[in-house]
Amino acid sequence: MIYMENKTKNNVEKSINLNKLSPELKFAKKTKELEEFGAKPYNKYAECELCLHNSETRPMYEYNGKKLCIECINSLRFPRNFEKMSKELFDHLKAQKQKNNKYDCILGFSGGKDSVVALYLLINDLKMKPLCITVDNGYMAEESMENCKNIAKYFKVDWIVLNRDYTKFFNKMISRGESPCRICSDMNMHELWHFARQTNIDTIVTGHELPFGTTALRNMKKDITLARLLVGYKLSEKERYEILDKLPWKKPDLAGYTTNCLILGYALQEFYKKHHISFEYDRVSAMIRYGLMTKEEARSSLVCPKIPEEMITELKKRGLDIK
Ligand SMILES: [Zn+2]
Repeated sequence: MIYMENKTKNNVEKSINLNKLSPELKFAKKTKELEEFGAKPYNKYAECELCLHNSETRPMYEYNGKKLCIECINSLRFPRNFEKMSKELFDHLKAQKQKNNKYDCILGFSGGKDSVVALYLLINDLKMKPLCITVDNGYMAEESMENCKNIAKYFKVDWIVLNRDYTKFFNKMISRGESPCRICSDMNMHELWHFARQTNIDTIVTGHELPFGTTALRNMKKDITLARLLVGYKLSEKERYEILDKLPWKKPDLAGYTTNCLILGYALQEFYKKHHISFEYDRVSAMIRYGLMTKEEARSSLVCPKIPEEMITELKKRGLDIK
């Protein structure tokens, strides 16, 4: 950080060189740390006994008589303290409430199951006043927009839709056989951040259930905090659906692990053609690791989806370049 104060090219380069270990040294350091923890590299083919990874997708280790992937080993090395994460999260949200502004936070509201559960918890459990914002990128399922409308009305909350068009971006990613999800989510987050800046609301809540490393909070630029609400609740899929059953929410029939996005299924199919694996592999592996999904649920969610003809027609109608 100190180095960044002087932004001449030379100094920046120097700071990079100083911080950089050669890949060999980095590897040796990591191996030593893992061995000190008690994990030995396992060089034959193995499947992780905890999640879905195997020797082809991650380095494998032997630990306490078990074959585990590096991600699972790291989750044991740096355990997440659920009580600490929840306390931090709820303390932050309580402080937002005490400011007594018109809105306590922005809620990233896609109409998908997790953001709807997040709204339910913000209102019923935390008694907060969120402003719901949907970034409509042009590929939201019609049913999920309908869900947004019905749920916002049900809770009597304000709801804003930001209309954007990600067609160009989706075309580019899908034609390359890459996953658009992470960047799409970053782009949505950027829109929410921009809106938060303009309206002086300094917390953005989302319905994500996996923390940032070991915390549910992340500082964005200009002192805006991103809060992953579901980290504080540890709800299983079943418990989420029990909440949704009480609400005017209808589950759309979409391909992939989504209840709002039309692109995901088609992007998964194209990715499968190229890589013979799902790009949701990492995420569902993490869900198993943290007890949010069983291995069976995860496996069935990873099957290559079949995209119905009507969906292809709909995607073309919205501008996606499909032959
Ligand atoms: Zn694993």
